[in-house]
Amino acid sequence: MKLQDKVCIVTGAASGIGKEIALTYAREGGKVVIADLNKAAAQEAADEIVKAGGTAMAVAMDVTSEEQVNAAVAEVVAAYGGVDVLVSNAGIQIVHPIEEFPFADWKKMLAIHLDGAFLTTKACVPHMQKSGNGGSIIYMGSVHSKEASVLKSAYVTAKHGLIGLCKTVAKEGSKYKIRANVICPGFVRTPLVEKQIPEQAKALGISEDDVIKKVMLKETVDGEFTTVQDVAEVALLFAGFESNALTGQSLVVSHGWFMQ
Ligand code: NAD
Repeated sequence: MKLQDKVCIVTGAASGIGKEIALTYAREGGKVVIADLNKAAAQEAADEIVKAGGTAMAVAMDVTSEEQVNAAVAEVVAAYGGVDVLVSNAGIQIVHPIEEFPFADWKKMLAIHLDGAFLTTKACVPHMQKSGNGGSIIYMGSVHSKEASVLKSAYVTAKHGLIGLCKTVAKEGSKYKIRANVICPGFVRTPLVEKQIPEQAKALGISEDDVIKKVMLKETVDGEFTTVQDVAEVALLFAGFESNALTGQSLVVSHGWFMQ
């Protein structure tokens, strides 16, 4: 059990990558918090963990709302006594060519990915400092933290920004044993990606099959999607790693789409 009794908040954990991370942390003994905009789906995920013998609770949280983030973290601390691991994972995708990108959509993207990461970090760090045990903060970046793709100006900007936030949190957190790292997955077939396939086909004027083969997986070594389990394994490594030796890093898990 790599996370025995560690309190782990995972944002956007009602679906996709976040949900798999929550299930994995629970199997490793963590007390898992499913924090999501969609409270009903968050409760379902928490119930699934409890039914399997794990410990979990659901909290309603819009990561762009300082009030909701602070209230949810306070609820977690009241229930479980502190916070040891934060996975800032909630995210969405909106694609447009830059000249057509609605400013409101740009702001929404930056709010969810960057304000969300900032607000959840700010709310959790004092509890990690207070416990004396430090903690692990994990940001869900993307290959798009390292590379650009057409139509994704807001997403690429936000995901690059997370690396800067991570490095700063790693430096500021070091004396409290608070580590910060970024996971950079390639394409994973979650609802976020399923939605993009027809959108990109339309925007690029190609078939959906070509979006998968010639856009999403073109640069991988084997034409394979990354899986939610692949990403959860990396999230477990970062959460369970005990020392400041592993901090301020970004790890790409993408079937070789991006090689450092
Ligand atoms: P998903 O759509 O399956 O899940 C996202 C979850 O975030 C949903 O449960 C949704 O309700 C929640 N959410 C959305 N806005 C929120 C908000 N304001 N506050 C709280 N919760 C909110 O998506 P996913 O593919 O699992 O993506 C999770 C993260 O992984 C995102 O940050 C995404 O950018 C990143 N990522 C995904 C891929 C991929 O290919 N799927 C690749 C690289 C990175």
